[in-house]
Amino acid sequence: MIVLVINAGSSSLKFQLYEMREESVLAKGKVERIGMDSAILTYEPEGKPEIREVSEILEHTTAIKRVLAMLVHPQHGVLESAAQIDAVGHRVVHGGESFSSSVLVDDEVKREIKRLFDLAPLHNPAHMLGIQAVEANMPGKPQAVVFDTAFHQTMPEMSYLYPIPMVLYRKHKVRRYGFHGTSHAYVSERAAAVLGRPLAELKLITCHIGNGASCTAIRDGRSFDTTMGMTPLEGLMMGTRSGDIDPAIVPFTMDKEDLTLSEVNSMLNKHSGLMAISGLSSDMREITQAMESGDRSAALAFQMYEYRLRKYIGAYAAAMNGLDAIVFTAGVGENSAALRAAVCRNLTFLGVELDEEANARRSADERIITAAGSRVQVLVIPTNEELVIARDTYRLILDRNHVE
Ligand code: ADP
Repeated sequence: MIVLVINAGSSSLKFQLYEMREESVLAKGKVERIGMDSAILTYEPEGKPEIREVSEILEHTTAIKRVLAMLVHPQHGVLESAAQIDAVGHRVVHGGESFSSSVLVDDEVKREIKRLFDLAPLHNPAHMLGIQAVEANMPGKPQAVVFDTAFHQTMPEMSYLYPIPMVLYRKHKVRRYGFHGTSHAYVSERAAAVLGRPLAELKLITCHIGNGASCTAIRDGRSFDTTMGMTPLEGLMMGTRSGDIDPAIVPFTMDKEDLTLSEVNSMLNKHSGLMAISGLSSDMREITQAMESGDRSAALAFQMYEYRLRKYIGAYAAAMNGLDAIVFTAGVGENSAALRAAVCRNLTFLGVELDEEANARRSADERIITAAGSRVQVLVIPTNEELVIARDTYRLILDRNHVE
């Protein structure tokens, strides 16, 4: 079976084409700057040279059309015809309380995703454009949706409710949802496999640290608590997001700086975090380099970033009354030995004993970076959200075929 995985943003669309028997990637790529006359299509067919094309792509439907044309291109293609694609799987950021697992797309599912536009105004409308673009280009093709929030639907009330008037939850579903669920679920399963222990017996803290960052307390294989909330703004300090702040800062700043709500929203989402403190960059590579060459603001940004992450690890160890392993994943988590070392050196009280050499070794493999005998293990597990989307889509299609 061949599955096309799509992650549609408002002006971009990433894709990966999977052959499911071997779980191998046949091709991948992205379209950027959708809506412009100089949109960029990057296409990487397996075993063939990468191609980059600049052209006018004004909407998602055209973007999908170009992607399909590449996939079946006589020279660069990996398929003879688009009909060989059995199904399409989409990443959808917000599934609200309606979806606790992946589902096949039908009219009701589409209506529900639209109903959730209010909760994820930047993401869900773009995902819907992706779904509609597939419908336009491949009528009748089965599609599945995989939600970032689904894994966290197991959180207990005490984790997901905010201590504010309940009417807001009842009327508007104001509660904590959590994100990056596909990644947290995947790395927790892989961590259990690497540790050779059943996931259901482990107390884990998974740290997905990329541009966006969240950590999750996983007990009995289920999300027990997670740092992102109703939106991805809550929790850890991130590249450009503030993470937790006193909410009173919002009206105060609006008043003192004469800002609108949307300006403050943009400040907290796009101009805070590492970017704001370093005054330099939201990219951990640049922060680390600047810090090493003596930049004090970059050093402070790094310190705050690490400190806020470590505080949550401590909190989640208490939340679960114990801890077996910490898992690092995503761009920063997988690559920044400096961040992992800083976190782990200050967790000796929990029983974390870092193997400095294993931590510093550059590798794209799943690995344990604590010393033999460390009471709490620390692992680095490269995430693979696309593979989970492809697998869920494949399983849903098999289940449907079985029923029919
Ligand atoms: P996204 O949240 O956009 O999916 P990623 O998980 O790809 O992001 O993470 C991107 C971030 O990873 C970059 O902004 C960069 O800060 C960080 N990163 C990538 N490589 C390294 C590295 N070698 N060292 C430190 N940080 C890195």
